[in-house]
Parts: sequence; C-alpha cells; structure tokens
Amino acid sequence: MAEIEIDGERYRLTVDHDLCMGTRVCIARLPGVFTVDDETNLSSASDDVLDPSLADAVREAVDDCPQEAIRLEKLG
Ligand code: SF4
Repeated sequence: MAEIEIDGERYRLTVDHDLCMGTRVCIARLPGVFTVDDETNLSSASDDVLDPSLADAVREAVDDCPQEAIRLEKLG
C-alpha cells in the first residue's frame, strides 16, 4: 500500500488481487512503485509515501490498468 498527497488530500494506492492479471502496465507507468510477484503474477504497490509529483503518473496507472484493479482511495 502506497500513499500519496494529491491536491492537499492523502490517498492510499492499492491493487485488488481479485482483479489483477499481471499485465504489468502499472510498472510501465510507475516503475519502482509497483512490483509483480513472479510466482503469483499479482502486482502490489510499494509501502512508500510517494512524491506528490507522481500524481499524474498515479492517475495514468489507475486509468490504464486493463483490469481496473488499481484503487486510489482518499484517506481520513
Ligand atoms: S496493470 Fe493492473 S492488471 Fe496489470 S499488473 Fe498492474 S494492477 Fe495488475
């Protein structure tokens, strides 16, 4: 689970493992944030607090995931 501040609000970035198919589009959008386990073929977000400059790339990853498996949820 990664966190990022977007427009002054904190968000949690996660992957729904019931939907992920391991296509790795997320890694192309956000290298270093997502990793795909070679055995399970499931993507996970890092445990990092992401730099706010990555906000556009985060939105692209959410929009471009072919399985709609990436969740960006407001915290608090
Ligand atoms: S782009 Fe979506 S389906 Fe593909 S590995 Fe990433 S989270 Fe999974």
